[in-house]
Parts: sequence; C-alpha cells; structure tokens
Amino acid sequence: MNTRRGLHDVAVVGAGMVGAALALALAKAGFDVALIESRAPAPWRAQDEVDLRVVALATSSLDLFRRLDVWTAISSARACAYRRMRVWDAAAPGALQFDGADSAEPALGCIVENRLIQHALWQALQHEARISLRCPARVEASEADARRRVLTLDDGSTLAAQLVVAADGAESPLRGMLGIATQDRDYGQRAVVAHVATGRPHEFTAWQRFLPHATLAFLPLADGRSSIVWSVADAEAARLLALDDAAFRDALGAAFDFRLGTIGACTPRAAFPLRMRLAERYVAQRFALIGDAAHVVHPLAGQGVNLGLRDVDELCRVLIEARDAQCDLAAPHVLRRYERRRRSDNLLAAHAFDAIQRVFGAESVPLAALRGAGLDLVNRLPPLKQLFARRAAGR
Ligand SMILES: Cc1cc2nc3c(=O)[nH]c(=O)nc-3n(C[C@H](O)[C@H](O)[C@H](O)COP(=O)(O)OP(=O)(O)OC[C@H]3O[C@@H](n4cnc5c(N)ncnc54)[C@H](O)[C@@H]3O)c2cc1C
Repeated sequence: MNTRRGLHDVAVVGAGMVGAALALALAKAGFDVALIESRAPAPWRAQDEVDLRVVALATSSLDLFRRLDVWTAISSARACAYRRMRVWDAAAPGALQFDGADSAEPALGCIVENRLIQHALWQALQHEARISLRCPARVEASEADARRRVLTLDDGSTLAAQLVVAADGAESPLRGMLGIATQDRDYGQRAVVAHVATGRPHEFTAWQRFLPHATLAFLPLADGRSSIVWSVADAEAARLLALDDAAFRDALGAAFDFRLGTIGACTPRAAFPLRMRLAERYVAQRFALIGDAAHVVHPLAGQGVNLGLRDVDELCRVLIEARDAQCDLAAPHVLRRYERRRRSDNLLAAHAFDAIQRVFGAESVPLAALRGAGLDLVNRLPPLKQLFARRAAGR
C-alpha cells in the first residue's frame, strides 16, 4: 500500500473464483491490492467426495491459471481434460462433434471443481505480499471522491483504494449500493446436478443432449464418473429431486438415451435456479464490475466463469496500460476501455446462449427439423465448425 496516502491501488470485493483470480493477477503485475471476502471458502481435500459444483474451464481460462502459477496445483490435484464434445437433439437427427484436432488444441478444456479452483487461488494469494486479505469482512458502505473510493466494513473500519472492483457474485451487494440496474430473465428452470457412474466409459467427452424444455450435459470426471447438469423447468426439478435413487437413475438414463449405458451409483442431488442477469453498466466513479456481478448466463454452454476470467484478463491489461501511461487507474477513459472491450463480448455470449435455450427448448416440429439441419451444417462446414470451437475455447 502507498502508506503515505493510506491508499491501495485496487480493492477487490469478493474472493470467489473471479475475484481471487483478479487479486492474484493484479498483485503479480505489481499492484497493491486489498481483497475483501465475507466468508472463507470450504477447504478442498483430496479424500473428500468430488464437489457437486464443477465447471468446464475453456482453454483461455487454463492459460490464465498457468500465468498465475496455479494450474499445476489444480491439475495435479483433480481435473479431467476433455478432448471431444458431442451435441445432439432428442427431436431431430442432426449432431455436432468437436474434436481437439479440429481446433489444433489437444484438449478442448478441463472439468474442475469450483472449490478446488478457489482453494488453489487462495493458497497462492496468501503468499503474495502485495495482497491484504480481509476475511471475514463485509462491505457495508461505499463513497467516492475525486481521488479515491472508501469502503466501510462491517467491523466499522474503512479502507481506501484508487479503484474498487466488485466481484461479489450474482446478487452483488456493491452493484446495488452503486445503483447499477440489471436486465433479468428468469428461465423458470433449475439445474439439477449430481455425479454418476455409467455403464460405458465417458471417453473424455463432454456430452450435451437437447430435449424439449430441457438440456442435459454429462461432463467427464477424473475418476471415470460423469457430472451431470440437467436443466429443467422448476416443477420438473422438484419432481426429479424427490424421486428415489433407482427411479432417478432410470429417468436420467432415458433422458440421455442411454448413450453411456445404464446409470450406476449416484451421489445426492442438488439444484440451482437459472436466470440471465446483465448489468446495464460495468463502471461508475472509481468502480468496476466483473464476473457474475456483471453477467449471469445460462449454463448450457458452460461459459459463466470463463467469461468472468476473460474480464480479469482484460481489466488487468487495461490497468497495466494506464499505469504505463502514468494515468489515474480509475480515470473514466480507462474504465470505459474495459467496459467497451468486455461488455459487448459478454452480451453477445449471454444472448447467444439465451437464443440457443429458446430454440432448442421449443417443441415445434419445424423448429426441431431446422435445429437438426443446423447442427449438421455446422458439423459439415470446417470453417464454421472451427469458429464455434474457437469461441468455446475462449479464443
Ligand atoms: C449449475 C451451474 C453450472 C455451471 N457450469 C459452468 C461451467 O461449466 N463453466 C463455467 O464457466 N461456468 C459455469 N457456471 C457459472 C459459474 O459457476 C459462475 O459464473 C461462477 O461461479 C461465478 O464466479 P464469481 O467469482 O463471479 O462469483 P461467486 O462465485 O458468486 O463469488 C462471489 C464472492 O463474493 C463474496 N461476497 C458476496 N458479497 C460480499 C460482500 N458484501 N463483501 C465481501 N464479499 C462478498 C461471496 O462470499 C463469494 O465468495 C455454472 C453455474 C451453474 C449454476
């Protein structure tokens, strides 16, 4: 910290996967960072059951974690690289297949537990002298003047930074305090998640089947099981959660067309509500939003945290450029550059997933035929297919 002025360069609020990655990236770039988190993450231990929350990390996210020196710790603990993706529709014959070879990447991405990612980031940031971690601490108020933004924490203490970044998740209390509105769409759906054993091997493939009013993904885990994300209407989710184990496994096998054989042992299930929530602005006076605080998207393409990690990369780049130009880190033109570069990309992604969800969720026969033809068309046209593969990888 600049002790003469008692001022941090950046204060990051929220140390989930995105906030912790940002704090680490900024500290490694030489910035002085305060990191405020309301609750310490649950520890990750190899002997524990695989966490029910997993994410498909795109190669752009793996690149960032390599640069932050956390990827070796994550991949050597527990991660499963997938080399293929198979997408098909229950109501039409078309199918789309991506192979690592199509995108010149050996793996298309990696399935990793959220808790392990956060654990590895926390281990690393605790060794960074440039990060002051305040946990547990909650931000209660935020005021800005021409020089700094001051945060008041729940223990009554204050801290000041040139720039405050909210990475405090979908509900983002800070976004609310700053009066930044969001555009919301409640999908009326829940994602039912569990880990399951399957009769046939998962082939290190991420599988996705579109069904009328539902999508079902099977993501490969390192121990040979698959992690399922089954997005269905709220009432159907309640029904699936209430089924006994045998009935749930039968329903799941049938919904997946027994592509990996019958479903074996299944962990307890959980469900998460699904919505799209997009902040109308990403920046305000000495303030910026990143990660789910800025954009919550449908999980059907498995891109939520990947978009947040791309925000991290871009915000870091913009702040380094500002410092190199001896500019105020929170000058309006600096923050607008970040907003311009990230908001359009995130909006495009969010609306694309929304459109896919609408088109693939529809039951109408002509639409189903069109979907099948569309999947086949993309599959048969190498340039189009490479474009899709590059987008999925975050390139
Ligand atoms: C079923 C499901 C499947 C998904 N699958 C994928 C996938 O395959 N790939 C993918 O990329 N994404 C996926 N996502 C999305 C991904 O999980 C989210 O995008 C990601 O977790 C968001 O991370 P974050 O760090 O922005 O927010 P969070 O994880 O919500 O972190 C916010 C942090 O801020 C802290 N906080 C909140 N308020 C305060 C406060 N006032 N003061 C201090 N701290 C505070 C919280 O304690 C928390 O630690 C999925 C989501 C769902 C629901």
